[in-house]
Amino acid sequence: MDPKVYINGKLFEKSEAKVSVFDHGLLYGDGVFEGIRAYSGRVFRLREHVDRLYESAKGIHLTIPMSREQMVDAVNQTLAANNLVDAYIRVVVTRGAGSLGLDPRKTTDPQVIIITDKIALYPPELYEHGLKIITAATTRNHPNAVNPRIKSLNYLNNIMGKIEATQAGCLEALMLNHKGELAECTGDNVFVVQGGRIHTPSADSGILEGITRAAVMELARAAGYEVIERTMDRLDVFKAEECFLTGTAAELIPVVECDGRVIGDGRPGPITRELSKRFHALVREDR
Ligand code: PMP
Repeated sequence: MDPKVYINGKLFEKSEAKVSVFDHGLLYGDGVFEGIRAYSGRVFRLREHVDRLYESAKGIHLTIPMSREQMVDAVNQTLAANNLVDAYIRVVVTRGAGSLGLDPRKTTDPQVIIITDKIALYPPELYEHGLKIITAATTRNHPNAVNPRIKSLNYLNNIMGKIEATQAGCLEALMLNHKGELAECTGDNVFVVQGGRIHTPSADSGILEGITRAAVMELARAAGYEVIERTMDRLDVFKAEECFLTGTAAELIPVVECDGRVIGDGRPGPITRELSKRFHALVREDR
């Protein structure tokens, strides 16, 4: 069966799902998006994703032409139409078609697009053995530019970081903020374990406040770990006992090497493994 793609209230066959070449989402990366997961037919933290989508839209002066409740329904409808129980869901809202100038007032009809697909995780052996990462030379967006807390369609900085990673033979890269502090990876948040405590860059480090990050912090605290959000740098990663990344697509993946430094004993650590287990249980139980 050809996948069905939601565009503005209607479902289209994949080959018929199209937007205008004049859409400012295409011409300028003018829009916002979300990546969401469904597990066993239940969408994980859908309300949080929808809220972040609307907050991102507000950040770029984009009015989404439907309510948050309607968006929740549209995601569930699209999932059901595709008969998917375990899925990755991409919600995109573009500014809409306009003239060949930047002015958003010349655009009409923001496009609300919902794509569902099978999930593309990192290869399974990397969850077992851990990732090697590098630090990208490309700086994470300055908060006074497009704030990294906004999940906009403008992902070029992150794509540059991803290219640097792949050119170095890695699948992910750390990105630093404009002050040289640790921010996050190109598509994942970063955590380290030091002295049995869990540390992650604070929201003001120039990060996307990941929904997986929030879930893992809750889980860790409930399991009795101290979780500290603070300013961090690369040395915090190099000298960590354990390191892991979190994200909707990645879930929780261990990191065992960064910029040629072996982290801990070079194997995924016990706290990473425990939190990973707890996260897998949570996504199947959560509301
Ligand atoms: N940081 C960036 C830059 C991201 O794009 C993402 C989402 N892929 C994340 C962190 C993780 O966020 P979430 O847990 O909400 O998927």
